[in-house]
Amino acid sequence: MENPSSQDASERALARGHVVQERLLPTPTAGRWQRERLVRSDIQERLLLVREDWQDDAAAGRWLIRGRSIHLADQMIVRVREGVRRDRLQAELGAAGMSLLKAVAKDLYTVRIAGGLDSHERALAAFNEMRDLVREAEPDGVGFGAGMPDDSSFSVQWGHHNTGQSGGAVDADVDAPEFWDLLEATPGLVVAVLDSGLNMTHPDLLGLAWAHAGETAGDGIDNDGNGRVDDVNGWDFVNGDNNPTDDHGHGSNVTGIIAATRNNSTGVAGMIGGVKVVVCKILNASNSGLTSNLIAATTYARLLGVPVMNLSLQNYPFSSSLNTEFTACQTAGILLSICAGNQGVDNDVTPNYPSCYTHDNIIAVGNHDRSDARYSGSNYGDVSVDLFAPGTSILSPVLGTAYTNYTGTSQATPYVTAVALAIKHLNPSWQAAEIKNSILASVVTRPAYGGVCLTGGRLNAVTALSHAVRQLPLRDSDEDGYSNLMEYAVGTRLDSAHVRPQISLGMAGGYFRAAVSFTSRPDVSLEVQRSEDLGNWQSSGVTGFSSGSVTEGGIPEDGSLGSYLRIRAVAAP
Ligand code: CA
Ligand code: CA
Ligand code: CA
Ligand code: CA
Repeated sequence: MENPSSQDASERALARGHVVQERLLPTPTAGRWQRERLVRSDIQERLLLVREDWQDDAAAGRWLIRGRSIHLADQMIVRVREGVRRDRLQAELGAAGMSLLKAVAKDLYTVRIAGGLDSHERALAAFNEMRDLVREAEPDGVGFGAGMPDDSSFSVQWGHHNTGQSGGAVDADVDAPEFWDLLEATPGLVVAVLDSGLNMTHPDLLGLAWAHAGETAGDGIDNDGNGRVDDVNGWDFVNGDNNPTDDHGHGSNVTGIIAATRNNSTGVAGMIGGVKVVVCKILNASNSGLTSNLIAATTYARLLGVPVMNLSLQNYPFSSSLNTEFTACQTAGILLSICAGNQGVDNDVTPNYPSCYTHDNIIAVGNHDRSDARYSGSNYGDVSVDLFAPGTSILSPVLGTAYTNYTGTSQATPYVTAVALAIKHLNPSWQAAEIKNSILASVVTRPAYGGVCLTGGRLNAVTALSHAVRQLPLRDSDEDGYSNLMEYAVGTRLDSAHVRPQISLGMAGGYFRAAVSFTSRPDVSLEVQRSEDLGNWQSSGVTGFSSGSVTEGGIPEDGSLGSYLRIRAVAAP
């Protein structure tokens, strides 16, 4: 038996369980079988129903696993008809030998059923008899975080800034230092990270957790009426409480890539500052989670109004209820940054969920390594994967005060999330469609990414900002009187009114001159314009004195060509 890949999280997880019962079912296609196993595993402390599609690869003389899905054998997600009361549902379920577990979202519940190889079919038949109450039902799926610690000794952040350390390709990175010259922080923005939680006492993650303004801590009251009592930092959907502290490390690693504190003389630098994280713990201490909790957390974060969610999650089975929830996120304009998965397979052939839902508001992210190539374990897909980002040996905080290198598409995804937040900060009116467009349209293309993703390229934070700025060239995000485009062209901070272009005006050699020094960029230029009356600005007739990194132009000091000068940025076509 060939495994899909040794990188497969479900394979590793199942290896730790033991099989209670199994059966092999023929399919209508010759040479294909379905294997169903009941597995008792510590990943969810529950009975799992594992379905695999097997194919007889006659040419190679072996059997291959074409696909695998894992569900809880004894739990269903049930959508009831509008207005069905909880007590009535409870009574009807009890009469059928089932029990109500918890509310996932409005009209959506988890239900405990008897667990066995046939349990899902039996439950579906029972729900069919309750059609006046139940609209639809499906088994509750099991998925995984998509990054694994590696023991690499690399201790510098090549994904931020690749200087060729440890044999990497120089500049195969997202250009974080150049990005920080333009934008450092996104104060006021929140991001939901759906993962294993957050280590809120790690020295590099202090103060990162969102503080829910609508909730009074510790009074035992659901002050904002969102169904969660004292959800001051987020919610622990795994244990059903208000303390989403990380007990695995994956969520802290992912969150640290977005926003670990920079310039605190400690550890690593996150991509952006100022952002607050709605901590949604949906993965347990084994880094595995349920579809029902993923739906509940997505609903929770959507109703809070977050603009972006980070889902470094893989290997969930397809779920109709989650599909419905993602449609609601799409309607709300929320960007879902989702990892492509770590099996090293083609997602166009073998869809990996949640990244392979077809909603327009999803960015599906693969993982590239320091040598500017697709990491061998990263899933790919000409259609279903959008771009690549750094994800191999990424150092970031974990549990305690530790830092660990993680590898996976889980680590690539938060890079995209951080850049999405930066764009949202610059252009607050933008929603998922516009943000996604700027990220995808601005990738750095390389042959290595051709044919393995939609864009043929990898994320770059500076080109993404540039693209976003050029779409709204007159916008002045920091309200310092200089447009984002002008500040981008000159190289001053777009998010600080204290750092702005320094334009010098003066007389020299018979000319009235204006000059500014700039950072050379391929997609924008500067020009000096003249006017007689502060209207009708034009560049014709201005004598150029530019040299090196200074743009300079002038008009005769006799006033024959006007009395006013200004410097404008012009976006390349
Ligand atoms: Ca609440
Ligand atoms: Ca409260
Ligand atoms: Ca730090
Ligand atoms: Ca400005």
